[in-house]
Amino acid sequence: MHVLMIGGSDAGISAALRARELDPAADVTVVLTDAYPNFSICGIPYYVSGEVTHWRNLAHRTLADLEAAGMRLRPDTTARRIDVPGRKLLVTTAEGGEEVLGYDKLVIGTGAVPVRPPISGLAGPDALGPADGVHLLHSMGDTFAVMRTLEQAAPSSAVIVGAGYIGLEMADALTVRGLQVTQMEQLPEVLPTVDPQLGALVHAELAGHGVEVLTGTTVQAISTAPPGGSGRLQVTAAAADGTAVTRPADMVLVVVGVRPDTALAAEAGATLGTRGAIAVDPMMRTGLPDIFAAGDCVITHHRLLGQTYLPLGTTAHKQGRVAGENALGGTRQFAGSLGTQVVKIFDQAAARTGLRDHEATAAGYDPVTVETAADDHKAYYPGSHRITIRVTGDRTTGRLLGMQLFGHKNAEIAKRTDIAATAIYHGMTVDAVSDLDLSYTPPLGSPWDAVQMAAQAWVRETRPR
Ligand SMILES: Cc1cc2nc3c(=O)[nH]c(=O)nc-3n(C[C@H](O)[C@H](O)[C@H](O)COP(=O)(O)OP(=O)(O)OC[C@H]3O[C@@H](n4cnc5c(N)ncnc54)[C@H](O)[C@@H]3O)c2cc1C
Repeated sequence: MHVLMIGGSDAGISAALRARELDPAADVTVVLTDAYPNFSICGIPYYVSGEVTHWRNLAHRTLADLEAAGMRLRPDTTARRIDVPGRKLLVTTAEGGEEVLGYDKLVIGTGAVPVRPPISGLAGPDALGPADGVHLLHSMGDTFAVMRTLEQAAPSSAVIVGAGYIGLEMADALTVRGLQVTQMEQLPEVLPTVDPQLGALVHAELAGHGVEVLTGTTVQAISTAPPGGSGRLQVTAAAADGTAVTRPADMVLVVVGVRPDTALAAEAGATLGTRGAIAVDPMMRTGLPDIFAAGDCVITHHRLLGQTYLPLGTTAHKQGRVAGENALGGTRQFAGSLGTQVVKIFDQAAARTGLRDHEATAAGYDPVTVETAADDHKAYYPGSHRITIRVTGDRTTGRLLGMQLFGHKNAEIAKRTDIAATAIYHGMTVDAVSDLDLSYTPPLGSPWDAVQMAAQAWVRETRPR
């Protein structure tokens, strides 16, 4: 049995590891277009900030670890065409030649590519790029280009286009490196994946660390600075009221999201679904014989919403593992995502799981969201922090639908969000969250955990009067 994986990141490597784990005799090959198998691209901001001191430390596993797991790695090898009936993959090799690889089962894990928004200066023959200090950020190659700009051009200012979680992490990272950062976001508040009430708290954290945050600001052009201008580049945008905004910058980072990389699969005849991602069933089958797909290139089944596109590393790992198992004849199903995510911004963290009010309404629920604040541990013990928690539940059934949290990075925001994710996964009511037997000692918690106090506030607010 020869199992072939296309893509050496979270999805492809997870599939390969699972296949080898289940059958140490399986012949497993991973082809990847770059030379960085199993690198944690989620860790890129912390290498840029200097907190991770060498790029090699971003590897989830070393090359030796991967080889010890028994897979064959083919770096600098690009998959070009899938011959579905012949079960063959045409690749261009590291040496520049062509080669045909046979397979019994194929797993496509080609991931995503960064979106290049319609901003003048980013496309066309005169487009600005890394050599000019203008960067997109997704791969290790992009990271090395950013580091070259930082080390060789020694920029003192940066504009970040986009205030999603990667934009925020990069604002943190570049500020830590000593740059003056301006963040431009076209939506009314930063981190639009959480409610604006929490986005405003993130906004304040950015501003408190010296980041100039311009929301409601649509970037229109990036150009080289006019003669006598103060930066190397100039960013021109329109504020919500239509006024022109310009900022000089020595470097510009454009991080406005990703789109699935599906050309190879689509050309082979795979069906595409939400946001153009590869349609897969819960077993990660594409519908093409013997071809599975996983990670940022595929649609994601959401447990409350059905088909979505949710490109996240945690999901790519799980889907890859399912694909690897099923490539060996298994019948495992991807259980579905709840869109659980967390981001650190300087000293704070923001997280969400499940649905926000408007998403729940669109999905046919009758949602109510109640915000409360609670201490992460008993306030009499030093170092306690307030956590802001927004609980969304269904008024009709009492079912917990979503939770959003904001608080200090040491206040266990991520793990408290995971309590909510676990409760939503199991279809619990908001009220039942109070019944969970959670741990307590004053330096680390409270007899009622902050999540339980938030659940109780929701029940109080929504009970019939
Ligand atoms: C800066 C940053 C921070 C992030 N932080 C988080 C986080 O904190 N938490 C989280 O959950 N997610 C995070 N993510 C998202 C997460 O990294 C991705 O969801 C995840 O890496 C997707 O994995 P993947 O294997 O599907 O695809 P990708 O990581 O996109 O990898 C695709 C792979 O396919 C290869 N490939 C593509 N085309 C071909 C071809 N034709 N032939 C051969 N090989 C090919 C590529 O070389 C690569 O190896 C972050 C992403 C970025 C960029």
